[in-house]
This record gives sequence, structure tokens and C-alpha cells, in this order.
Amino acid sequence: MLDFSSLLLAAALSGVCLSVTMFAIWATAPRARFVLTVACGILVLVAHVILFWHYTREPDPLLCQVALALLSLGFLIICISAMQYLGVPDHGRAIAPTFAAMAICAAVTFMGLDGIGFVITYATVAALLSTIGAMFWINGSHDRRILLVVSFLSGTCALSFALCGVVLMTKGQWTLGVAPDNWAERLNSVVAVACMTGLGALTLSLHHLQAQIELKAETMTDPLTGLMNRRGLTSLYGERTFGPFMAIVMFDLDHFKRTNDIYGHPVGDQVLRRFAAVIRKYARTGVDAFRLGGEEFAIVMSRMTEERAYDLASKIGVAFGTEIVPTPLGPLRSTVSGGIGFGEADGSTLDEVLARADSMLYAAKRAGRNCVISCKGMDKADPVKPALRSA
Ligand code: GH3
Ligand code: MG
Ligand code: MG
Repeated sequence: MLDFSSLLLAAALSGVCLSVTMFAIWATAPRARFVLTVACGILVLVAHVILFWHYTREPDPLLCQVALALLSLGFLIICISAMQYLGVPDHGRAIAPTFAAMAICAAVTFMGLDGIGFVITYATVAALLSTIGAMFWINGSHDRRILLVVSFLSGTCALSFALCGVVLMTKGQWTLGVAPDNWAERLNSVVAVACMTGLGALTLSLHHLQAQIELKAETMTDPLTGLMNRRGLTSLYGERTFGPFMAIVMFDLDHFKRTNDIYGHPVGDQVLRRFAAVIRKYARTGVDAFRLGGEEFAIVMSRMTEERAYDLASKIGVAFGTEIVPTPLGPLRSTVSGGIGFGEADGSTLDEVLARADSMLYAAKRAGRNCVISCKGMDKADPVKPALRSA
């Protein structure tokens, strides 16, 4: 037979080790606030375990109330850490019902119905753990295997708490006066230690995964404009097949070297940021924007007819033409040229569509700049026959 006290102390010890490790990790990566939150949640649970252990030796109603409140609070904090990690904003959705349950639990325990207090707390914890599992399953954008393990551990732990409540209810133990001690409680202390240790270890690998994802996002972002860079374009579309309703518009600012020469590099940078802002304004759903390098930009459009693609590219060109950048030498207006390339019915690669857009861009430059040229469905054998349209 397992010694209940030893199990509780083992749980407390394992919790302390886990939270110390997490505090140390957070200290080296303070941006990972969710690690700090998990560590705090686990410490609250450790406090619960220690108080509960005391309660098993000296049953005192106040001690019971505090221990139960700490159990709900600890798992609430862990649930909030999961929300922080997954970027679920409305923490109130977990806080309000948990605090309500804690208040009801305190009231019934105060009235002497501590058995009901235990049932309410176990139900609250089971709900919080199930929420964690469900949130990771629904919102997680990671490797499905990690999500499966997180959901499985949270679900198992939730089940073991739910069982404790069910056993108390089936036995009709509404008033206990002492700590409940049955097979479900013993099972729960083993399962909870195992699951919480597993979840703690997973928190660390989730932290590493997040750091990797952030680093990858950084390498795919252009620092000047905040748009994705060429690496981002290759990463998103390098493996994709472009059909006849997918297009790329390549933009190149006109006479930009002259802008730099006359107004200076910082003004040039400002013009680049303005153009990025214009692109962002028009790049809605189904449109991704990139700075390919220098003063060259591209947008990739999905589910686009030639008409709509041309319309959007022209609107961007016209809107940029109306932008005025104030400079010490007076207001500066700039223009941009664009070339549109489409995929083909039998599928084209990113490089093929880019090359098509580039040749259209070249044609736009030759046509006098400040215009967009589109050419759809070019036969590979045919020479380029661009439809010249001035914006
Ligand atoms: P065109 O109308 O034919 O496109 O002429 P252009 O002057 O725009 O083209 P060119 O390729 O000759 O010049 C591009 C200039 O873009 C040269 C380079 O100094 C400038 N450039 C590239 N990257 C940056 C940047 O990050 N900031 C600034 N301010 N200028 C940049
Ligand atoms: Mg250029
Ligand atoms: Mg240029």
C-alpha cells in the first residue's frame, strides 16, 4: 500500500524542483513570461500540497479552505500561462468562473459541508485542466505530437481529479471533517505528480520551440519595413504550384538612386517605409507582401483574376504616387513601376512566376515608369507580348 503522506511530500518536492528550473530558465529568457507564470502556478500548488499534508494530520476547517483555494488558484495560474503561450487574450474567461467556484467552495466549507467544497474544487481543477488540453489542441500551431502529449497529460490529470470528486459524491460524503482518503485520492496524487512533471518538462520544450519560431520569423522579416523578406517568400511559396489564378506583382521604385543622391539615404529609407505602408494598406486577405531587397517589393495574390490583380497593383501605384514625404529640400513625391506575372494552367513554380513578373516590370520601366503591366497566360514558346496599361 502506498503511503499517502510520502506521496504528498514527493509531489511537493518535485514541484519545487520544477519551479526552480523554470525560474532559472525565465531568468535567461525574460520574454518567455509564460515560463514564469507556470513556475508561479507550480509554487502555489506546492503550497497547497504542504497545507493539505498538514490538514491530513491536523484537520482544521480554515486550513481546509485555504488548501482548497490554493489548489484552484494554482491550476488557474497554469491555465493563464497556457493562454499566454497560445496568445489567447481574454484571461477573464478562466479567472471569473474559477473565482466564482472558489467563493462558493469557501462558503459551503464554512457551513461545514467540506465534502461539497472538495467536490467543487476537484470539478474546477478538472475544468481548468480540460481547458488547457482543449486550448492546446485547438490553438496550437506546433508539431501535432507535442500538442497530443500536452492534451493527453492535461486530460489524464483532469480525469484523476474528476474521479476524486465522483468518489466523494457516490459515497455521499458531504461532510468530512478530515482529508478525504480513498483509492481515487491515492491514484490522483500519483497521476498528478506524473502529469505535472511531464507538463513541466513539456513547458521547457514548448519554450524552445517558441524561441525557434521567433528566430525563424526574425530571419524572414525585413527590419526596415517590417514586411517579409525574400527568404520569407521562398519559405511560404517556394514549394507551391502557381495556377492561373495566382499572381505575383513585382514593384520597383522609380529613379530611387536619384532620390538617395538628392535627398540622402535616411529620406530614401523613409520612402521605402511609406511604400511598405501603402502595400500593407491594400494587401488584404489572400495577399502577402514582401520586400525582395533594395527598392524592390512583391505581392503574391491568391484567387485573383487578371482584372482584379491589375486593379490592386494600380491602386497601390496610384496611392504611392500621392504620398508626400517632407524633406529639408521640400516635399518629395515618388513613383513606382509594377509587373504582374501569373501562374499557368498546368502549374508554375515561384521562380517562373517571378521571372514573368520581372519581365513585365522591365517592360513597365521601358514604357516610361509609373505604370503597371500585366501579361497573363504567356505561351512559353511565344515571345513576350505584354498588354501595356498605364496606371
Ligand atoms: P529605376 O527607375 O530604373 O528602377 O532606377 P533606380 O534608380 O530606382 O534603380 P537602381 O537599381 O539604379 O537604384 C536602386 C537604388 O536603391 C540604389 C541603392 O542605393 C538604393 N537602395 C537599396 N537599398 C536601399 C535601402 O535600404 N535604403 C536606401 N535609402 N536606399 C537603398
Ligand atoms: Mg531596382
Ligand atoms: Mg528602381
